[in-house]
This record gives sequence, structure tokens and C-alpha cells, in this order.
Amino acid sequence: MDVQSIGVVGAGQMGNGIAHVMALAGFEVLVTDTSDDALTRMSDLIGKNLARQVSRDKITEAEAEAALARIRTTSKLPELGQTDLVIEAATERETIKTAIFEDLVPHLKPETILTSNTSSISITRLASRTDRPERFMGFHFMNPVPVMQLVELIRGIATDEATFKSCEAVVAKLGKTSATAEDFPAFIVNRILMPMINEAIYTLYEGVGSVKSIDTSMKLGANHPMGPLELADFIGLDTCLAIMNVLHDGLADTKYRPCPLLTKYVEAGWLGRKTQRGFYDYRGEVPVPTR
Ligand code: NAD
Repeated sequence: MDVQSIGVVGAGQMGNGIAHVMALAGFEVLVTDTSDDALTRMSDLIGKNLARQVSRDKITEAEAEAALARIRTTSKLPELGQTDLVIEAATERETIKTAIFEDLVPHLKPETILTSNTSSISITRLASRTDRPERFMGFHFMNPVPVMQLVELIRGIATDEATFKSCEAVVAKLGKTSATAEDFPAFIVNRILMPMINEAIYTLYEGVGSVKSIDTSMKLGANHPMGPLELADFIGLDTCLAIMNVLHDGLADTKYRPCPLLTKYVEAGWLGRKTQRGFYDYRGEVPVPTR
């Protein structure tokens, strides 16, 4: 299928980035969210982010204007049924995602492809709740979407080849690179990244190193652009814990047990940058380690 129009469900951190890159690549984009505020914030933010790209000579003024004109918003989920490809990027909760697909299915064109940007929920299980498991797959962008080059494409057990090829073509049109993952807990990137972050937290918990020495070690010793604790704060410690729980439950292996210190930070509401405190305190001029 030659995809021309994209429906995005959820105008949060990820939905906003997805709408941005899709519109810049020439797709017609229709975004919905249950929160009107989220839709307004998204439109403002995309405008600002496109203007920043213009000021850095990454795109022209005309390209930015054309991209903005391709993005429409609606509070009515059924309107997305007429798009060629729907990317669900709502809150990471299975009941929410399942309800979205169930509400959308009666309004879909027969050929519409359904996808989810979920970081960890089973694609096969989500697909089984729709009328088209063969035209359903995982379309997993990385954060921040306009910057990160990778999209993980995840086949559910029933995903057919034509659907996979159509999604692969969309990623190519974005100028991004796709990697194929099978539908097992946390797919590829988070399956490898999260245990490393969790191990960094154990290293802190057991007193092997301080926040600063752990991050410095991995930046200068392994050439990582960010230290693992700094990265955990960027991703959100609640998200890190949720993904470790998915790995632990889904693979039933104790090597994935979340570090008790990670749980404690989440219990404290110290979730990283978004709450201004995590492994670093971001309330001052420069981030200060909290341990
Ligand atoms: P977010 O909290 O920033 O945004 C979620 C949005 O979904 C909110 O605006 C919320 O109002 C909206 N929403 C909730 N229920 C809805 C419904 N029924 N219909 C329509 N909209 C609804 O979350 P996010 O970080 O953008 O994450 C979205 C998805 O992307 C999740 O599945 C997450 O796992 C995945 N993801 C996140 C990251 C990341 O680093 N944040 C990276 C890759 C994938």
C-alpha cells in the first residue's frame, strides 16, 4: 500500500515528534488526543521546533510552513479511520491502548494499517483485539523523534509481508533507518539498554561508585554520549521501572529484577528531568547528583 496519510493517536512527547517528522516528509497528518490542551500544546511546540530547524538552516521557511499546513487535529478518534496508517502513541497502559483500537476499528477503511509506538506491550496481544491482526504491527520511534535516526519495526505473530513492506517504505521516506525486531518483551533497544541502566543503578546501590563516577566512567570509558544515570533521568525513572518489570515478568528471569533503588526513586516521585529530580537535581543552574 502506498501510504499518503497518517493518523496519530496521542499528542504527548512522542505523538508530537511523530506528527512533526511525518509532516516534514510530506505525509498528511491527523492527530487526536483526549486532552484538547495536549493538542494545542503540540501545535505550538511543533511550530517552535520547526522554526528552530529553519534558524539552523536544516530546513527552509517554505518547508516549515508546508509541514505545519499538513498537520490537522481533531478531538474525534473515528476521523482517523480514513487515514492510510494509524500510529497509536497514547499513554503506555494496555487498557488505554486496547480501548483506542476497539473504538477505532468500526470506522476504519478496509486497507488501513494499524500500528502502536508502545515501548513494551505485546504487539500480538494488541493486534488480537482488532479486526486486522495481519495489518497490525509495532512502529517504535526513539525519543526525541526528530533527532533519533532509528525506528524499530516489530512484527506481531500474524503481521503480513505487505504490511511490513508498507511500514518499511514509510520509514525510508522519513529518511530514517529501520531495524526489525520480533515481538518479545521490550524488543531490541530497550531489551539491551534497560538492563544496562538497571545495572548502573545496582552499581550505585551497592556503593561501587557515586552517580558522578558511574556516569563519567561510561562516558569516557565506553564512549557513551551520556552516562547511564543521566540517560535514565532523561527517559524517566517510572518508564525505566515499567520496562524492567515487563522484562522481568515477560521473560521470568531474575537477571531482569529491577534494582530496589530504582523503585525507591519512583516511590519518592523523583522521576528524572520531568519532575526536576532523579539521580540528579535539576532545580538549580547545573544538575547536582542526588547521591
Ligand atoms: P505522554 O504521556 O507524553 O503522551 C501520551 C498522550 O496520550 C497524552 O497527551 C494523553 O493525553 C494521550 N492519551 C491518553 N489516553 C488517550 C486516548 N484514549 N486517546 C487519545 N489520546 C490519549 O507519553 P509519551 O512519552 O509520548 O509516550 C507515548 C507512547 O510512546 C507510549 O506507548 C510510550 O511507551 C511510547 N514511547 C515513549 C518513549 C519515550 O521516551 N517517552 C520512547 C518510545 C516510545
